[in-house]
Amino acid sequence: MEPIYEGKAKRLFTTDNPNELRMEFKNDATAFDGKKKAQFEDKGRLNAAISNLIYAMLEERGIPTHFVRSISDTEVIVKKLEILMIEVIIRNTAAGSFCKRTGTEEGWDFSEPLVEFCIKSDELGDPLINEAYIRELKLATADEVAHVTKAALEVNQILQEFFLKAGLKLVDFKLEFGRLATDPSVLVLADEISPDGCRLWDVETGEKMDKDRFRRDLGGVMESYAEVLKRLS
Ligand code: ADP
Ligand code: UDP
Repeated sequence: MEPIYEGKAKRLFTTDNPNELRMEFKNDATAFDGKKKAQFEDKGRLNAAISNLIYAMLEERGIPTHFVRSISDTEVIVKKLEILMIEVIIRNTAAGSFCKRTGTEEGWDFSEPLVEFCIKSDELGDPLINEAYIRELKLATADEVAHVTKAALEVNQILQEFFLKAGLKLVDFKLEFGRLATDPSVLVLADEISPDGCRLWDVETGEKMDKDRFRRDLGGVMESYAEVLKRLS
């Protein structure tokens, strides 16, 4: 069980199965491409629980993910992937960098979901790119971009409904995809889906229930993550 990667929020280890990895959720929180850092007790457990629950639900709805099984409160066995070095962002409502980039106020609902791509690089500050950049930089093929876009919009529909039942509005979120180690022609959903990578607002009060509580020093970060888990469970 060799450690193969330590990221900002998770660690990856090899397993006895060459096609599977062990992914451990840490208590570390970072924002602004790693420039702001903190530790929150229980964060790893909460994000693992939320992400596992969402991935199991997506699998049931026919969306292939890397999820294999949970082995402890903070560790999960996942299919080994070659991760596409792009972040896929889906936005339903204006917030975050959309507002910064366009000089708009947060909170207005888009007429249709927006799909964006960024290069997965903290050094570069995850710059926004388009499909032509992706093809030119060979980050993914045209077919892969089409597949990822369609899958991201499908996931958005499922998640919007899922969160709404829990009284949460899905404002925006980030997805990662990867090619299966056993068959690189197959793309599956990777990484995690948790309040670290989604904006979730309480439907009634508009209260932020996600990592913006940490980014903006609003307090009650883990209380909000725990509330999200409770509502989804
Ligand atoms: P970061 O790398 O941005 O600091 P994390 O701390 O979340 O992020 O690290 C997890 C890393 O594992 C990410 O780089 C992610 O792309 C990668 N990853 C997620 N799922 C898989 C998978 N199934 N196979 C291989 N790598 C994965
Ligand atoms: N996001 C993420 N990782 C990133 C960048 C964005 O998980 O490296 C998520 C973020 O939590 C939000 C959505 O993607 O839910 C859109 O983020 P945005 O582009 O507004 O950037 P940010 O506000 O993080 O600068």
